[in-house]
Amino acid sequence: MTNPRELGLLADCESCFGLCCVALPFSASADFAVDKAAGEPCHNLRDDFRCSIHEGLRERGFPGCTVFDCFGAGQKVSRVTYEGRSWRAEPASARQMFAVFAVMRQLHELLWYLAEALALEAARPVREPLRRALAETERLTRERPDVLEKLDVAAHRAEVNELLLRAGELARAGLNGREHRGADLIGARLAKADLRGANLRGAYLIGADLRGADLRQADLIGADLRGADLSGADLTGSVFLTQAQVNAARGDSVTRLPAALTRPAHWASASQAAGQAASQAAGQVAGGRSGGGRGRQSAGRRSRRR
Ligand code: SF4
Repeated sequence: MTNPRELGLLADCESCFGLCCVALPFSASADFAVDKAAGEPCHNLRDDFRCSIHEGLRERGFPGCTVFDCFGAGQKVSRVTYEGRSWRAEPASARQMFAVFAVMRQLHELLWYLAEALALEAARPVREPLRRALAETERLTRERPDVLEKLDVAAHRAEVNELLLRAGELARAGLNGREHRGADLIGARLAKADLRGANLRGAYLIGADLRGADLRQADLIGADLRGADLSGADLTGSVFLTQAQVNAARGDSVTRLPAALTRPAHWASASQAAGQAASQAAGQVAGGRSGGGRGRQSAGRRSRRR
């Protein structure tokens, strides 16, 4: 993958006006301790746009905050689109800024996927259209606020998605992977499953048991992995997997991830995972629908640094 840091696709909370902690709504659930309306600042957001409970988000009932990834959209809107003028300093621009943030997040997510697709050797036949799509998406991110607010981002997504679909197909070519696009695999028992080269685009894998599964070269774009158990699974070479998806799943120290992604701090160690497996074998609940009252994982939010 092209370096996401150089592309500005890694969230830099210190350069952001806490946009995800204000613009997005959440509902009291296993993911969030309280209700919050869109546009209302979270009561944990400090005056300096830092989170007052950053070190204890999971323990304080906000695990959903550890899942969200803005792909760098927060700092782009704060520092580029609005040139350092915050919604607190200019309340009249707040509504528009939050709308622009929602659009920018989608554009940055597309940039992430496009950069990954460009780095795929197998996607060489579509490299030129991918380059053009990346340049056009990057250009859109630098538009004025009023242009961004009205942008038909769904139409742009649809165009880019055709290219990503083709790139994913090329990456999986010849592997005869399973076809599970958009499949309902909630709580599915897929331990040690051979899912190499599988098409899991948009699949619902909430709470699925994927321990020890072979997910190499699988296309995981948009797959819902909340609460899925990836302990011991091999995801090297999987395509279009994001940090937010990984953060929403469970795993352990032997789960193998693509090089661009990092192991979440909350993942259990291999020994803890073994203990959990033993408990499950003894009859405790395994798999099933994970907690959380929100929709797709993109609805979560990233924790903000102190
Ligand atoms: S990270 Fe979560 S808890 Fe902290 S301020 Fe943001 S929304 Fe609130």
